[in-house]
Amino acid sequence: MRYGIFSDVHSNLEALDAVVEAYKKERVDKYLCVGDIVGYAANPAECIKKIEMLAKVSVAGNHDWASVNLFSPDYFNPLAKKAISWTKDNLDAKGIRFLETLPLVYKNEDLTMVHGTLEEPGDFNYMTDSYIAFGTFELLETAICFVGHTHVPEVFIKSGDGAISRGRESHISIKRGDKYIINVGSVGQPRDGNPKAAYCIYDTEDKSVQIKRIEYDAQSTRNKIIDSGLPASLGERLLEGR
Ligand code: ZN
Repeated sequence: MRYGIFSDVHSNLEALDAVVEAYKKERVDKYLCVGDIVGYAANPAECIKKIEMLAKVSVAGNHDWASVNLFSPDYFNPLAKKAISWTKDNLDAKGIRFLETLPLVYKNEDLTMVHGTLEEPGDFNYMTDSYIAFGTFELLETAICFVGHTHVPEVFIKSGDGAISRGRESHISIKRGDKYIINVGSVGQPRDGNPKAAYCIYDTEDKSVQIKRIEYDAQSTRNKIIDSGLPASLGERLLEGR
């Protein structure tokens, strides 16, 4: 099985289209979305429609749930708050229904998927250090947990002896007995200094996970953000990947 796993599209249709196009060369069997389909950019309804058709399962991100009043906007910074209120005004009824029904956690025989962490997934905490990773590893019942939320691709590995290491490698070989938390990065708003959209492929036969990057027309996304009345800085940051 080859999974195409992606996260944090954030209403960026140009980045989503580029990633979908890139995935066509990857013989993907099943697509999974790790949340935050909406928020920040100007095409929430279009991105929901595409992902609803493409992905077998999507889990909820904090922006998804905040946009349909299932998570408090109090937890967001002023720019994100503005984007959420703009998104609320620009969703259609079908999109609202889709976001409302997103689960917090998904698990199958190959993997687990959660936007933030497995401990209190509805709090949307960030996977930022080994201590937080430890909490998720304790609850993890599969070999790999895919996460998003920080918009920075990286991997936490818990080896058989319990030691947790952390890395930024983009090609990960899955070893029997080890457990993995893999942050797939962000399609629509990368924050690791690389403005290219991030997407992940997990091959269960090959026992490998790859995180790839693809260039997209970020200038168009930026222009749409500004033209639609969203904060201009949400457009500018895309050009720098921060
Ligand atoms: Zn996000």
